[in-house]
Amino acid sequence: THFGFETVSEEEKGSKVYQVFESVAKKYDVMNDLMSLGIHRVWKDLLLWKMHPLPGTQLLDVAGGTGDIAFRFLNYVQSQHQRRQKRKLRAQQNLSWEEIAKQYQNDERDSLGGSHVVVCDINREMLKVGKRKAFDQGYKAGLAWVLADAEELPFDDDKFDVYTIAFGIRNVTHIDQALQEAHRVLKPGGRFLCLEFSQVNNPIVSRLYDLYSFQVIPVLGEVIAGDWKSYQYLVESIRKFPSQEEFKEMIEDAGFQKVTYESLTSGIVAIHSGFKL
Ligand code: SAM
Repeated sequence: THFGFETVSEEEKGSKVYQVFESVAKKYDVMNDLMSLGIHRVWKDLLLWKMHPLPGTQLLDVAGGTGDIAFRFLNYVQSQHQRRQKRKLRAQQNLSWEEIAKQYQNDERDSLGGSHVVVCDINREMLKVGKRKAFDQGYKAGLAWVLADAEELPFDDDKFDVYTIAFGIRNVTHIDQALQEAHRVLKPGGRFLCLEFSQVNNPIVSRLYDLYSFQVIPVLGEVIAGDWKSYQYLVESIRKFPSQEEFKEMIEDAGFQKVTYESLTSGIVAIHSGFKL
């Protein structure tokens, strides 16, 4: 396993990854916005649109870090629930939309329709930042935080409707083991969704992307976060991650079916989807 121009063993990778995220945790969100020019927000929104959670969805967001996917999920299910409730009120009582808005109660507005998300991450510091964000932004209901390894999840079999992992799987030492765990904890019919950096499929974008990744990102890491090495690791781990097709096969090997993927922004990232059937 290559690590910031050092070669480290598989055993060392886990502790190195831990150090990287422990070191970047406090600056993680601001660096994400800076390095991706805010585009990571659009990719994450697209993951939610793809998921399109139904009322009552139980989501496990692994490598959930500072909670970006979980907060998007909560916003999404809340707005879906509101829309449904308002439509129901209108159908039942034949009211105008203005009258419905007046009748609409605060407790209904806050309801998530039974949906719930568990954020799971191996890094205490990343979770700490996430919990603080949840508190500051007023997320209370429908959310739990669990410190755990993607390779050994502390959950029963067949527990979740959806499993997400965003920009997390490339950091896991044994990806095949994490995929098997994802399969185990999903209910039959449950869906696996992974957002991850992938292989760029446009030669011009690829040249620009290489320049940006190797010349700009470690410099930004040093200037903003005082941490060249961690950001060099991030760039290198992106390059070492399997292509869209190779990763699709790995997901199938873990037992998932109907596996598909969609490349976004010329393949800079891809969303892979699979079902436990
Ligand atoms: N999902 C978040 C997002 O999209 O902003 C955070 C992604 S961050 C790049 C990667 C996260 O993976 C870090 O929070 C790190 O602690 C976590 N991670 C790395 N290895 C892990 C493992 N084996 N199990 C669980 N989480 C892990």
